Amino acid sequence: MEVIFLGTGGYHPNERRHTAGVAIPEARIVFDAGTSAFRIPKVMPPGELNVFLSHAHLDHVCGLTYLLAPLLTGYFTSCRLYGTAATLQAVRTHLFAEPIFPILPGFEFCNLEDVISCGDCVITSRSMVHPGGSMAFRLERNSKVLAYVTDTTANESYVDWIRGVDLLIHECSFRDPDEKWCQPTGHSHTSAVAQLALAANVQQLYLTHIDPRDLTDDPVDLDQARQIFPKTVVAEDLLVVRL
Ligand SMILES: [Zn+2]
Ligand SMILES: [Zn+2]
Repeated sequence: MEVIFLGTGGYHPNERRHTAGVAIPEARIVFDAGTSAFRIPKVMPPGELNVFLSHAHLDHVCGLTYLLAPLLTGYFTSCRLYGTAATLQAVRTHLFAEPIFPILPGFEFCNLEDVISCGDCVITSRSMVHPGGSMAFRLERNSKVLAYVTDTTANESYVDWIRGVDLLIHECSFRDPDEKWCQPTGHSHTSAVAQLALAANVQQLYLTHIDPRDLTDDPVDLDQARQIFPKTVVAEDLLVVRL
């Protein structure tokens, strides 16, 4: 299957990266709907859509408003939104408050259960530490497994949950010198993510949720990450990974 990074930035978009979104077109699944969500119809054929929301912070949900047109035109025949009750409530009452966005698209709001069957995929979710909380997801399809872990501070408490996955997509908001910001903001730094990937013995690590203020070609210190876990890649918008 193809995994397409729609948006690889955190917080706000910049000239290089839109905010959070990962698409698996064959499974008709998207994780998060940040500013990159305008790209969903470009990579996903017409039909039904399933969006799994890690949490309701704007860099992960603001693009839900962009789905109005493809739903109204019938390009997408349905859109299930999966999230915690708190996330779905925040989306419904705040993002789609009438003064902010006057039309609520025809979403089907679905509370996250521990295990969800979605087409030929099985999705498992896990609660993560982040201000206001966030959810991580594990997707299994045709004996391949990927984990999408964003907006949390990397630590070994969930190493077993991601152990041996074929693809670990993990946030990396800070370089090591800015580690002090990880706890107060609920984000991760380079070495902690690489050490987690090593401990979990994952097949490959793709870093996302990159600090948008850093416009250099090396916003996470990739050499540092690869010294710990060689199979590390910094994701870019519209990068395609085949599993
Ligand atoms: Zn975020
Ligand atoms: Zn967040």
